[in-house]
Amino acid sequence: MPYVTMKDVLAKAKKEKYAVGAFDIFDQLSMKAVVEAAAETKSPVIIQVLPPVVDYFGARTLAGWAHLLADEYPLVPMVLHLDHGRKIEMVYQCIDAKWGSVMMDASDRPLDENISVTQEVVEKAHAAGITVEGEIGCIFSVDEKKEVREKEDNLASVPSCIRYFKETGIDALAPAIGTAHGLYKDVPKIDYRRLEEIGKTVDLPMVIHGGTGLTDQDFRTLVKSGAAKINIWTQICIEFCDAMRGFAKTDPPSSDAIAFTRFAAERIKKRTIEFIRVFGSEGKA
Ligand SMILES: [Zn+2]
Repeated sequence: MPYVTMKDVLAKAKKEKYAVGAFDIFDQLSMKAVVEAAAETKSPVIIQVLPPVVDYFGARTLAGWAHLLADEYPLVPMVLHLDHGRKIEMVYQCIDAKWGSVMMDASDRPLDENISVTQEVVEKAHAAGITVEGEIGCIFSVDEKKEVREKEDNLASVPSCIRYFKETGIDALAPAIGTAHGLYKDVPKIDYRRLEEIGKTVDLPMVIHGGTGLTDQDFRTLVKSGAAKINIWTQICIEFCDAMRGFAKTDPPSSDAIAFTRFAAERIKKRTIEFIRVFGSEGKA
């Protein structure tokens, strides 16, 4: 796969009205499974990594795997992206290690501070030819109370998104619109109109966090409302853990490590293909 930036894949997605799946991986196995899913569906893909995984493997090792996989699968575009970079040191490590994209998430800080730290990151990232995602509003965990998650004040406002975009020069924006991280225990109230309005006003690819647990119809409406990147983390974990638990129960118990990992990789790949098809990015490589 050509190793590209997020701007390369999201500009086309926004124009042609589909979303690129951004799948959080946790090791080589899950990275390869997601890349194989993209190759099989001829879809662009965003491989994202959360800070604990970067802490464990290191930014350079992860970039090394991604570059090698990009060579191995030359037909579809692939982006390596840091998900929820909260510490600027880690964001800089990823930029220095030649990742394709980073997220600077300072959304829990006051807007002025969020803007200034994001500005700094954008300057360094753009100088290195790397794209930046930013977040406005508060995208909570599903453990937070529903009233708090969906409270108007915690969602992204159009004026703050305009100011953030103009003053930082980011390449993709994740506005809080009522989705949450984790596995929903209730039906989330998604503010599609807000998403549409923000997308039209700031003219940036819109990013949706908290994709796990949404219905296919939710995804289709999100794409129709302007979503160009949809993040999936929890479902990847569920596929892996369910597969491992299921395999562990084989009788007689297997100690074939390769069979164990292949079984889990197949589950991740299969589910990733389903997401890619619903997001509409199949055949868009
Ligand atoms: Zn997120």
